[in-house]
Amino acid sequence: MNPSEITFSVVIPAYNESEMVQYCYNKITPILEAKFKNSYEIVFVDDGSKDQTYLELKKIANNDTKVKCIILSRNFGKEAAMSAGLFHTKGKFISVIDCDLQDPPEIMINMYDYLLEQNCDVVYGVRTERLGETFLKKLTANLFYRFIGKLSIVEIPRNTGDFRVMKKEVVVAINELVETQRFMKGIFAWVGFNQVKFEYRREARVSGTSKFNFVKLWNFALEGITSFTDIPLKVATYLGFFLSISSIFIMFSYIIKYLIVGDKIQGFLTLLISILFIGGVQLMFLGIIGEYLGRTFFESKRRPVYIAKEKMNIK
Ligand code: UDP
Ligand code: MG
Repeated sequence: MNPSEITFSVVIPAYNESEMVQYCYNKITPILEAKFKNSYEIVFVDDGSKDQTYLELKKIANNDTKVKCIILSRNFGKEAAMSAGLFHTKGKFISVIDCDLQDPPEIMINMYDYLLEQNCDVVYGVRTERLGETFLKKLTANLFYRFIGKLSIVEIPRNTGDFRVMKKEVVVAINELVETQRFMKGIFAWVGFNQVKFEYRREARVSGTSKFNFVKLWNFALEGITSFTDIPLKVATYLGFFLSISSIFIMFSYIIKYLIVGDKIQGFLTLLISILFIGGVQLMFLGIIGEYLGRTFFESKRRPVYIAKEKMNIK
């Protein structure tokens, strides 16, 4: 083994987590030390926090060179923050964990052991229970995973977050992807490799509040769907086809009725409803095309995934 190479890296994205970073560091270090001695690093990514997170991180990084920090120039979102962290890891094995420690850090070690035991490339955490989360969040999360599970070009495991342990090869593959809009759950699955699940209980947040609100989650869901499937676009084709065929049938049935029975063709309401219906369908699919087009537009700019304004303990 290359002497400068280390065994384990932990990536921790943090956005407005000033109450959590020190706690998280205190909690994780002894666990890593017990398992890996000095052969580990913790890579914190400050995702443009507006609170004291930066100062807290600086304090930690000044005292411990095994703590690396990447300070992003603004809030780029958790997906970009994770990407930034993964990009800077040096370990042979790499883990991603949230700063709020909802995913118990001891499990990280269990997942690592399991990875070696199973001789696989990735061990991802599957939540059997989610404590401290509202019914609505659980329900929408569940629906979303079900929906994307059906549509996505790759299988995205259900009840799986970003919490996982990966071999370096997998992270190298992830780092090579150039897309700027990164739906990491999809990317983790897309790169393939031999992935094995590990079940655990997800705890409630120790302190602070969730950084995701409804709008953020909605956009996240859209991102996931548009990045990993083009089925919504295809639906337009088939629905359009179906509507045209049925309208031809309806037209003929009216003509025949008129010729045979001599029925006067009536139906102001029918006309109104069909115009509204078809107008609605068209607008909806214009919107869906717009979602994809907008993403192509942003992707075509080839902007970097994130901008780091400062790095600590990184050469
Ligand atoms: N996070 C981030 N950037 C964001 C939002 C969240 O880096 O824009 C981090 C956050 O600090 C935490 C992790 O992502 O470490 C998960 O966030 P949170 O706990 O709010 O999500 P939840 O557990 O509610 O899904
Ligand atoms: Mg959380």
